[in-house]
Amino acid sequence: MKMSIFDLSLKELENFSARCSGKKFNARQVMKWIYSGSIYDFNKMTDISKTFRKKLIASMDTTLPEILNSSLERDNNGLSIKYLLRLKDGETVESVFMDHGKRKTLCVSSQVGCKMQCIFCTTGNFGFKRNLTSGEILAQLLVVKNKTGDKISNVVFMGMGEPLDNFEEVKKALDIISDANFIGIAPRRITISTCGIMNRLSEILNGSKYKYKFAISLNAVTNSLRDQLMPVNKKFPIESILETVNRTKPSIHNKITIEYVLIKGINDHIEDAKGLIKMFSPRTVKFNIIPFNNPEMNLNINYERSDDKTAVEFGNKLVKAGFTVTLRHSRAQGINGGCGQLKSKNMNIKNITAV
Ligand code: SAH
Repeated sequence: MKMSIFDLSLKELENFSARCSGKKFNARQVMKWIYSGSIYDFNKMTDISKTFRKKLIASMDTTLPEILNSSLERDNNGLSIKYLLRLKDGETVESVFMDHGKRKTLCVSSQVGCKMQCIFCTTGNFGFKRNLTSGEILAQLLVVKNKTGDKISNVVFMGMGEPLDNFEEVKKALDIISDANFIGIAPRRITISTCGIMNRLSEILNGSKYKYKFAISLNAVTNSLRDQLMPVNKKFPIESILETVNRTKPSIHNKITIEYVLIKGINDHIEDAKGLIKMFSPRTVKFNIIPFNNPEMNLNINYERSDDKTAVEFGNKLVKAGFTVTLRHSRAQGINGGCGQLKSKNMNIKNITAV
C-alpha cells in the first residue's frame, strides 16, 4: 500500500529522496509544490527529475479526505462553514472554517472522538475512536484551502479530540503548518486548546521551542465542580493548572488563554467570576468565555447556556479586573459548528464572536 505523503515530515521525505534520487533537497521541492503550491500531481513538479517523479508516484499517495457534507452560516461577523471529512478508513472528522474577513480561522480536529469525557461536550459523549495522523491533521487545512480558495490565517486546535493526547502527530503537523516555506502560518496564529493534561503542557511550555499559543479549558473554579464536569481534573486538579500558569513567563503574544464554558446555574455566578479573578493575574492570562452550546441530538447532557445578560455581566466583571476577555457567542450554532459540538458522521462544534 502506498504511503500518504502528508504523513511524512520533511526529514522523513528527505530520507526517502536521498534513497531514491540521491538528492535530499528534492524533499523540500516536493513539499513546496504540495503545501505552498497546492500541486498534488507529481508529474507537474517540473523541477524534479522524471525518474524520481516515477518513484514518488509508485510509493506515495496524495489523496485528500473527501468532503462528505458542508453547512454554512452567515452572521454579522462573517461566515462559518463546517466540513465533514471522510478519512481513508471511512472514519469521519469535522473542521470549521470561520471567515471574519482578514482573519480566516480553521478549527481543526486532532482525534476521531475523544477520551476525556467532559460531560458537557458532544465529542466526549461519543467516546474515542482513534488518533489522527499528522497527515490527516494537515489535510484538513489543505481540503478547506482548496475548497474555499482562501488563505487560512489562523488555526485553532479546538475541534474534535484532545491535542495533547496526540501531541506527537499534532507536533509533526505543526512543523509543516508553521514552516514559512510550506503552509506558513506563524506560530503566534496557532492555538492549541487542552482540557488540562498538565504534565504534557508543562513539558511543552518548558521546552525551548515553546512558540505556539495555548488555551486551557478550566470551566470551574472549584475542584469539586471541575471533577464533575471534567474527569481529567481528578488527575490534574486546578492547583496543577495554576502551578503551570504561574511558572510560565508569557510575552504579550503568548499569554495563556483560560477557556470557560458558561453553563446556566452551574458555573455562571458572579462568585465564580470572583474566583477566577482571585486565581489569575491579567499579566499572565486572558479569558475566553464560551456560552454553553446545546448538543444537536438527544444526549444525556442536561445543561443550558447562560442568558446573554449573565454572560455579559460575567465577562464585564473580568474586564473590570483588568483581564482581556473574549465572549464567544456560538456563531456556528445553527450548523452545530460550535465548541464541543463537533463529532464524527454520527457524532458534532460551536462558534463564537467577540462581544
Ligand atoms: N480537548 C480540547 C479541545 C477541544 S474542545 C479542550 O478541551 O480544550 C474546545 C473547547 O470547547 C473547550 O474549551 C471545551 O471546554 C469547549 N466545549 C466543549 N463542549 C462545549 C459545549 N457543549 N459548549 C461550549 N463549549 C464547549
